[in-house]
Amino acid sequence: MPKVITAREAEELVRKGEQPPAGSILTPSARDVFGGGSLKSSFKGSGAPATSSFGGSHSSRQPVEPSVPDYEFKWAPGSDPKTPGEIEKFFHSPAINVLKERICEMGRRLWQKDYTDGNGGNITIRVGDNLALCTPTLICKGFMTPADMCLVDLDGKQLAGTRKRTSEAMTHFGIMKRQPAAKSCVHAHPPHATAFAIANVNIPSCLIPEAEVFLGKIGVAKYQTPGTPANADEVGEVGKIHQAVLMQNHGVICWGKDVEDAYWKMENIDSYCRTVWIAAGLGGGLHRFTGGQAKELIDLRQKLGMPDPRSGLKECELCDSAEFRPGAVCQTPAAPAKSDCGCQTGGGEKSDPTIEAIVRAVTEQILKQMKA
Ligand SMILES: [Zn+2]
Repeated sequence: MPKVITAREAEELVRKGEQPPAGSILTPSARDVFGGGSLKSSFKGSGAPATSSFGGSHSSRQPVEPSVPDYEFKWAPGSDPKTPGEIEKFFHSPAINVLKERICEMGRRLWQKDYTDGNGGNITIRVGDNLALCTPTLICKGFMTPADMCLVDLDGKQLAGTRKRTSEAMTHFGIMKRQPAAKSCVHAHPPHATAFAIANVNIPSCLIPEAEVFLGKIGVAKYQTPGTPANADEVGEVGKIHQAVLMQNHGVICWGKDVEDAYWKMENIDSYCRTVWIAAGLGGGLHRFTGGQAKELIDLRQKLGMPDPRSGLKECELCDSAEFRPGAVCQTPAAPAKSDCGCQTGGGEKSDPTIEAIVRAVTEQILKQMKA
């Protein structure tokens, strides 16, 4: 277990001009003593390796620049452990143990949000040139422990861990091998987003600014049998330029710079789909912002270092989800744009005169019988 440093211990270390031991966990108040998030420390939740150094010792509590904590796991290229002894030591190192706990925490959140059912879903974190931590197969994501985690190479060979790795890890690695910024992937079956994937309905864009910034353009990967190389290739190609990918007839996979970042995108996409679904049912249509406004959001996304395949598009080419037709379908899919029951219909296609004639004849028949 990594050592937990309290505020009092932190003050003592600062007084002596020392740094916390590598891999130790700082309580929030201890973190304040060391100057908050400006230190790339391995405090709880950080993916920083045990060897990472602190950003300088503060002999007293000096004001520091406010910053955002960085939980991305970084390693020196070419430093992957090789021998069985090195691998075992690495697998049980404090920095990796913190990541195992983070995976369990994200699994719990996935399960609590109803994004996984049974043994569904899986999580990976890249921890080396050719190394990743992953969840095991056949496990409920809500009740995992660090001891359940597996260490594998990016070809799926299991290197450490007592439980067998998930077969869907290869889908995650399909993305990681193509996109180095993808340091963690989360796969789940969140019901609202998965409903779009099953109905084969493209998720409309230009509706909520946060979705444009944090999800970017949502990719769609064609259906392939889960766990197969064909699925890894399909999802990998789409995931290379999309951080959130709808997997047709299956679910969603998202990636991020760390595991919580990837998990957030899962929340973002399901919340977005749920909101669009509710809004569409209100019957007033959906109000989109303009291509120019979307461009500003895409620029912001890029400034935050996240890829977006729309970056080269013109403003008039953005907000391209005109095929999404909100509203209830009251009759057949080929019903008129404004049907007799007053609802907006799905397509606005021309009415079928034969069906109209039949409906008229049946209605007249019923009215005649009622009068009789
Ligand atoms: Zn799945």
